[in-house]
Amino acid sequence: MLDLDGRSFTPDSPGYEAVRRPANPAYRDARPRLVVQCHSVADVVRVIRHASATGERVVPRGGGHCFAGRSSTDGIVLDLSGLDGVTVDGGLAVIGAGARLAGVYAALHAHGRTLPAGCGPTVGITGLTLGGGIGLLGRTHGLTCDRLVGARIVLADGSVVDCDDDREPDLFWALRGAGGGQFGVVTSLRFDTVCEPMATRVDARLTGIAPDEAVAAWQAWAPDAPDGLTVNLTVGSESGGPVLTGASTLDEASTRELLREFTAQTVGLSDRMPFHRLKRTFDDPDPRDEVVRIRSEFFSRAMSGGTIASLLAGLGEPATPRRLTFTAMGGAYNRVAEDATAFAHRRERFLLEHIGDPADPWVDRSWATAHADGSGRVYPNFPDPGLDGWAAAYHAGNHARLAAVKKACDPGRFFDFPQAIRGET
Ligand SMILES: Cc1cc2nc3c(=O)[nH]c(=O)nc-3n(C[C@H](O)[C@H](O)[C@H](O)COP(=O)(O)OP(=O)(O)OC[C@H]3O[C@@H](n4cnc5c(N)ncnc54)[C@H](O)[C@@H]3O)c2cc1C
Repeated sequence: MLDLDGRSFTPDSPGYEAVRRPANPAYRDARPRLVVQCHSVADVVRVIRHASATGERVVPRGGGHCFAGRSSTDGIVLDLSGLDGVTVDGGLAVIGAGARLAGVYAALHAHGRTLPAGCGPTVGITGLTLGGGIGLLGRTHGLTCDRLVGARIVLADGSVVDCDDDREPDLFWALRGAGGGQFGVVTSLRFDTVCEPMATRVDARLTGIAPDEAVAAWQAWAPDAPDGLTVNLTVGSESGGPVLTGASTLDEASTRELLREFTAQTVGLSDRMPFHRLKRTFDDPDPRDEVVRIRSEFFSRAMSGGTIASLLAGLGEPATPRRLTFTAMGGAYNRVAEDATAFAHRRERFLLEHIGDPADPWVDRSWATAHADGSGRVYPNFPDPGLDGWAAAYHAGNHARLAAVKKACDPGRFFDFPQAIRGET
């Protein structure tokens, strides 16, 4: 029996059913032998030491949203949700590894601060940050991991390491874009936060333009818009026309003028509001336990007219919804060198996701159609178990250095999963 500050659950414990399930409904059947809700760094150390003695598999879980189910196992789930404190001192914030985005935004707002981070109120700050972190302030401030200035992490041998630019700099480098479940269990993150801006929500359903023209115009415009304006595009199989959503930190007149470069149609702009409130307007008031399959790729150049036409024709009129979501990159994301952090994708113009029913072969067909023009790079936070050549796709030229960090920190591959970095290339 483990002596813990937190709690542990086995399949016959009261409460097990509630704690065993990850947020991602695709992996809800997983039945870990043990779930440990850690309440201290010492708990994390105890579980890692115990598992390394017994040879059991351990996976850390933050928000539990991993698309590839990497925070679920039949071994031991290390649930970090009890370590969710946020302390702010000037511009620096120390955030417990189990904090979720809604709590992070709210806590930082109380100090007039925020982070360029993602949507999804229950998404974990640690999973998001360790894989990059794309969001509505990213074109101004970069990825969430670009604001990370330090982390505390428990390694496979049970040692507790504080890393930053001066202490264990290789490990700190690796955590910024390739760290999810790979090198150790992060227990807290230290961020250089940004001043919370006022922001306006941007919304429109484009009706006066054919979908292929909308995609062609968007890809030529949105990635080059001024940093303060982020506009994403979704085209779906359901009728009604492409949908624009996004946010602007610019004033209303400038925002409208910029949007007129893209569309003659009137675009809805909300009142200006603090960024954390704007984020809340994106929360789904009625989240469904919908299981979807997502494949994605970055694009460093525009798709050809032929590719766009084939992609949109492929949407068809299916029995289950199909969706293409285009996210604008550029701006501050690309003002960082490819090897400055482990996140290598710094010359991309946009990210395209193909989202459909897991049984619908369209997801693979659509991905293959777009791949003809894609950069071959894939966002590590959108892991794709079907990907060939995953090491180059996720990590590009950074893979060799990541393999060296893995060899130094976890030579026995205590932390492992399909598509995990190995200690050799
Ligand atoms: C509704 C929704 C909205 C999203 N929106 C965005 C978005 O706007 N921008 C964006 O970039 N991404 C977004 N994502 C993707 C998201 O970034 C990834 O799914 C991310 O991995 C989720 O992290 P998590 O902590 O919730 O998941 P988890 O499944 O808990 O963790 C993800 C990975 O990180 C590892 N991990 C978790 N905690 C630790 C730890 N303490 N130490 C070491 N490893 C750890 C896990 O083992 C797993 O491998 C979204 C996902 C969803 C479901």
